[in-house]
Amino acid sequence: MSPARFCALLALAVLAGCGDSTGPAPEDAAFTAPIQGAPMTDVFYGAYMDHAPGSGARDYACGIKAYDGHGGVDILLRNFRVQDSGVSVIAAAEGTVARVADGLADRSTTWDTEGLGNYVEISHPGGSSTFYGHLRRGSVAVKQGERVERGALLGLVGSSGRSNWPHLHFEVRRGGISLDPFAGECSSTKSLWADQLAYQDAFKVTDAGLTDQPTTRDVLLERPPTLSAFPLNAAGFRFWLQVANQPAATIRFELRAPGGALRDAGTLQVSAAFSMRYLLLHVPVSGALTEAGAWEIRTYQDGQLIWTEPFTLLPAAAADAAGTPSLRGKPTFEVQVIDQTLP
Ligand SMILES: [Zn+2]
Repeated sequence: MSPARFCALLALAVLAGCGDSTGPAPEDAAFTAPIQGAPMTDVFYGAYMDHAPGSGARDYACGIKAYDGHGGVDILLRNFRVQDSGVSVIAAAEGTVARVADGLADRSTTWDTEGLGNYVEISHPGGSSTFYGHLRRGSVAVKQGERVERGALLGLVGSSGRSNWPHLHFEVRRGGISLDPFAGECSSTKSLWADQLAYQDAFKVTDAGLTDQPTTRDVLLERPPTLSAFPLNAAGFRFWLQVANQPAATIRFELRAPGGALRDAGTLQVSAAFSMRYLLLHVPVSGALTEAGAWEIRTYQDGQLIWTEPFTLLPAAAADAAGTPSLRGKPTFEVQVIDQTLP
């Protein structure tokens, strides 16, 4: 139920605080960012709160950045290496710590478990509460009943509870009902933020690399070290590209030989992704590529070059001497997608 409709129902009971059915009461705290780091550089906004009645999803700006029933906003990290570096979750306003949970595993890559995992709830003077979910195990830095100032360290970003990617779930509630702090055409007219962040729907390539490891979600979120050279007798390798907010598009991968000649290409139609996504390319080498030297993989989105990944193919003897690893199995030239949100 939307906050506006909730207040409309409560208005029958003449309860204070719902006089303005388009937004929260004026005494509500103005929130500031609940996480350290710059948007679209260090942290990436995935799903916002869902405003669509029934099934389907719609965010505060009437866009696609939500999934069915989502009550907060998800702020993602690139991978677990960034999580391991310690990204601070901070109080969005002053208040009192109402509840905490800690001690749960924090490297989940599935939605197999339920709940916010390790989390902190803060009660604010205006009557609203904020929740900070999926925190890193052992990172919760506050105790129940403790007073906290705006900006106080609450814990670190993790992937505990129902989480398939390292991220913070930030949610505002009043009387048990989720409120969207973002004002917009499909939300309320009053923002709960001191300074509302612009809608985070810009497309960006956020990371890329080459690996001889299996490109599963688990492996990719550990951010495998990038390899740059492969022996000509290697079975093959994999290229992965991590993107945010990819529009529906035609993706084309081109394999360019030393000197620039087109050696192979693969295309894939992708649907729009409102969160982060991996695009994957399997490149066979042994039996497919024969020239040692400097190669490139060029990635195009609707005809526009979005990434160039260089790699070197080494004569087999030199490769053996260098101990360069090789992919097991017989790969074929093919492309795949892994989305942050599960189908
Ligand atoms: Zn969430």
